[in-house]
Amino acid sequence: MNAGAIAQRSGTQVAVEVVAETGSTNADLLARASTLEGPTLLVAEHQTAGRGRAGRSWLSAPGDSLTFSLAWKFDLPLQQLAGLPLAVGVALAGALAACGVQVQLKWPNDVLKDGSKLAGVLIETQAAPGGGIWAVIGIGMNLRMPDELEERIGRSVAAAPWLAQMDRDELMAALLASLAAALGEFRHAGFGAFSARWNRLHAWQGRPVSILDNGSVLHDGLAAGVDDSGRLLLDCAEGRITVLAGDVSLRTREA
Ligand code: ATP
Repeated sequence: MNAGAIAQRSGTQVAVEVVAETGSTNADLLARASTLEGPTLLVAEHQTAGRGRAGRSWLSAPGDSLTFSLAWKFDLPLQQLAGLPLAVGVALAGALAACGVQVQLKWPNDVLKDGSKLAGVLIETQAAPGGGIWAVIGIGMNLRMPDELEERIGRSVAAAPWLAQMDRDELMAALLASLAAALGEFRHAGFGAFSARWNRLHAWQGRPVSILDNGSVLHDGLAAGVDDSGRLLLDCAEGRITVLAGDVSLRTREA
């Protein structure tokens, strides 16, 4: 992939870097956050130690996926960044729809296609030296899914062969343009500007789900979308509750 072509086609001011191989694009940008001069996109052609939440792994095969991180500085308090992974999901969904691929969102941080995970979002933050917070937004997106990789992941996952045929720089530029626009909007208007769009893209609206913490069930209920700060609304026997993302996981209770 070509950094100059991605930057130019995105129409953004984001600094773009492409490396052939690295462990984790999130780890690399976090390590450099204090020296970054502005928003920076790091794309890895091959990511060998991709990270998910709570120490889980994101697996990918070179040439068959997009793995990248975008470092973006916010002058907002940390708690206002809680809805950021959801806003990122809305931005990805918009860019993919423009490329002809319809996706849905699973709270808090997954992009689903036909019910399985097409892309994952992992956001890690770090205080900026002169004030503010660097958010490093890591995204892994499957384009093709070799059988061998799906076996290693150990669950049914989605791919988007249609996107795999696209020029990679063009695809990456479209995603970057959509993300940059969304992050600008998030900075000014917060997640409230995204909640209606997120709810329209919600994969599990009205469906029975469980909230798990380390494998044990915290709550059962019907998924009722998200509120203006990105918390999940869950209709339980005892009434409607709100759930903060943290490290909890959401599972459907349907077969
Ligand atoms: P869950 O989907 O289990 O609720 P999560 O949303 O927290 O968890 P992440 O931590 O964001 O998931 O992503 C890591 C998980 O994603 C892994 O545990 C694995 O099950 C799955 N995974 C890893 N690589 C891929 C991939 N290429 N495509 C789809 N899913 C993957």
